[in-house]
Amino acid sequence: MWDTVYGHESNKKFLANMLQGERKTPSLLFYGPEGIGKKRLAFEFARSFLCLDDPLGDCTCRSCRAMRSGTHPDFIYVEGQGKRHDILIEQVKELERKAAFAPVLSSYKVCVIDDADLMRVEAANSLLKLLEEPPSYWLFILVASQVSRMLPTIRSRVMALRFQPLSREDTRKVMRTLAIAQGDVLATLSDGSPGKALALSDADALTWRERVLTVLERIDDPCLMGNLAALDWLDRIGTDDTRTALEMILLLLRDAMMLKEDRKMPLYSEDLRGRVAFCFADWSLPGLERALRETDHYWRGTAQSVNGRTILEALFLQLHCLAKE
Ligand SMILES: [Zn+2]
Repeated sequence: MWDTVYGHESNKKFLANMLQGERKTPSLLFYGPEGIGKKRLAFEFARSFLCLDDPLGDCTCRSCRAMRSGTHPDFIYVEGQGKRHDILIEQVKELERKAAFAPVLSSYKVCVIDDADLMRVEAANSLLKLLEEPPSYWLFILVASQVSRMLPTIRSRVMALRFQPLSREDTRKVMRTLAIAQGDVLATLSDGSPGKALALSDADALTWRERVLTVLERIDDPCLMGNLAALDWLDRIGTDDTRTALEMILLLLRDAMMLKEDRKMPLYSEDLRGRVAFCFADWSLPGLERALRETDHYWRGTAQSVNGRTILEALFLQLHCLAKE
């Protein structure tokens, strides 16, 4: 059942029951961290909901074929479009117009609204009216990562399903299915979000992790500034790369704390366990805690058009002092 979506077993079960029970069509909200398969499951569920033959099977009815080819006349997908990738009032107005028409191919219409937490107030109020009196044959599925940003009135109109991050094993399976290079390592770095793992892959995060770890391995060298000056990657580092580098430092520091506290938890950089342990062997726990706070501070502060070299040099210099505490 919906095997292309890994994990989320209890939510799948709930949705399967909904399909088999009497077809009421409440509005649904799928919420949870980004990149864990909420939208994918919304699409799969929509296909089953619109299906004309065998909703939970590997069906090839007209409706299912149309869903797979992205041409289903009764399926509507809305995603953020504004400058801030938010949903605009015009998009909701368009939905209102469509609501006047009955389904064409299936017995229902399904509307998936992605980024439902990124909606301006006018758009949200307009959507609220639709949710308050939905056309009887419509199913709305809202997808959101930051549910706290949604209007409480909208939240009170939907049946909310919470989605948890995937297990490491499931995240790895997704990476393997997608044949991503070093997918296992990226899955471990991603906190159970395949979407995050893919973003790390795109950002070449493992190269950045190697670069910053190499610096950290010699962080107490008296010639630190000279060593940094010799790094040519630091010269041409852009804003996104700076953020990736800082994120990798954060994960390495968290691992170092896990090791220091002797917690039996898997590390983000499990593949580099020995190197991480050796690198931070002489650090004190308070030193690591402060280093983590400082790095987090820099990471939050990297806005657009920062000078990556300046930021990283300043941070490494601070870490140089903290390493000796
Ligand atoms: Zn079907």
